[in-house]
Amino acid sequence: MNNTPSTSRRPPGNLAHLDHWVDGKTAPPTSGNYLETLDPMTGSPALMVAAGTTEDVNIAVQSAKKAAPDWRRYPAAERGQLMLALAQAIRDDNTRLAELERAETGKPMPGALAEIEGSAKYFEFYGSLVYLPTGDVLDVAPDQHVYTKREPFGVVGVITPWNLPMNQAARAIAPALVAGNVVVAKPSEITSRTTIELARLATDVGFPSGVINVVLGLGDVVGEAIVKHDDVRKVAFTGSVAVGRSIGHIAADRVIPLTLELGGKSANIVFEDADLDVAAKETVVGFTLNCGQVCSAGTRLLVQRSIYDRFLAKVTKATQNIIPGNNLGPLVTPGQFQKVKNYFQIARDEGAKALVGGEIAEVKGAEGGFFVKPTVYSNVDNKMRIAQEEIFGPVLVAIPFDTEEDAVRIANDSSYGLIGTVWTRDLSRGLRVADRIEAGQVFVNVWNTMSVQTPFGGHKLSGHGREKGIEAIHHYSHSKTVTVKI
Ligand code: NAD
Repeated sequence: MNNTPSTSRRPPGNLAHLDHWVDGKTAPPTSGNYLETLDPMTGSPALMVAAGTTEDVNIAVQSAKKAAPDWRRYPAAERGQLMLALAQAIRDDNTRLAELERAETGKPMPGALAEIEGSAKYFEFYGSLVYLPTGDVLDVAPDQHVYTKREPFGVVGVITPWNLPMNQAARAIAPALVAGNVVVAKPSEITSRTTIELARLATDVGFPSGVINVVLGLGDVVGEAIVKHDDVRKVAFTGSVAVGRSIGHIAADRVIPLTLELGGKSANIVFEDADLDVAAKETVVGFTLNCGQVCSAGTRLLVQRSIYDRFLAKVTKATQNIIPGNNLGPLVTPGQFQKVKNYFQIARDEGAKALVGGEIAEVKGAEGGFFVKPTVYSNVDNKMRIAQEEIFGPVLVAIPFDTEEDAVRIANDSSYGLIGTVWTRDLSRGLRVADRIEAGQVFVNVWNTMSVQTPFGGHKLSGHGREKGIEAIHHYSHSKTVTVKI
């Protein structure tokens, strides 16, 4: 089994269907084909999603291109007002949006609601930035007036995964728009609904037609067509290393900028002097949130040897409160389910010991759902595959270390570098280790209080470029210098 939904031609029986959003309205796929998605809670067919083609991408890009000149000249304050209105519209509709997100991902409602609130915040934050200066005056010579200004790229392609669908879409679309770009977005074929709703709400609050377009369908068809399209001038991609690498080649050939937000296997380092109760509690949130399907999950637990057994006992106990079908949702697809099951086998083969979990979960009333038990492995060496590869499920691997030097070395012995966490009461040590971890973001004595204000992105295979914060604006615009002889 893989993650790719099957293609079929309509009529698809009784299933609801979902079309593209182009030029301010819904647009059926030119091919007439739809993809069938499954309900992760039960494994049964759920929705028919438009199977876009290169032609559909071209239509959407032309719509965006037509909207670009006016949107670029839209007065900044009015652009900001539209962004704020969209944030409010998302909040006003949060329960319905969260239910749509839940239907496609299976995540429990509190997580879905938090995700929708996070999406609103992106529009609120970037909408407020229109009041910031967008350039400098440079003192080059007394007879010259030299200034810089930031300019949009034009049509920006936004390609997103299935784990936090609306949030990932909002994270890229909001800074792209506020910088004056227009967007052609492609959500994961598995979780298309809320990105379409985002575009619909934007149109409802007054965004001009063509400023946000959404083309649905398969990655290697629609996603690739977006990256290859001559009129797409920048791409923001969130997803796997394999796809990031493959579209990186296309972007390099076309010489267009590309933001890559890829995977992670983030180190969560616990020193013997840490507040172990708090660290254990947060460690469990850190690897089970969204059923572990979070790029920044702290799935590689490094514990000082002197407290290894004691700390793992606390983590194991706290993990037992995470109940599949209750406060732990399913994995999102049969493919992801199979992948995590394969890692359970790999863990057994590598000699790791499951302190808890290590198997699928049966959930009464949701038979056929893609549930696994939250899992903690001890007896793990950092060289093992379960310590090096991103599993993207609720699986924690615990590795002992002796010294601070060891902890840093093991943390950095990874092809990924997305985030890191350090637990210690010695703040000097916390800062030293934070400095040395190869990652885009490090937390000390707290896990993942991510805010829209904090730049986010990776080192190494976790990608390059940054989303979030004021910094993201620089990835959605380029600077122009103007020199005037006076
Ligand atoms: P994926 O790479 O399979 O798909 C991501 C998106 O790319 C989807 O929309 C997909 O349709 C599209 N795509 C697939 N093939 C394509 C191609 N050839 N050309 C263009 N687009 C293509 O990833 P996924 O399985 O949906 O998501 C899981 C991955 O995303 C994990 O590795 C996770 O760590 C990563 N992720 C990273 C972040 C981050 O911010 N760093 C956030 C969430 C998820």
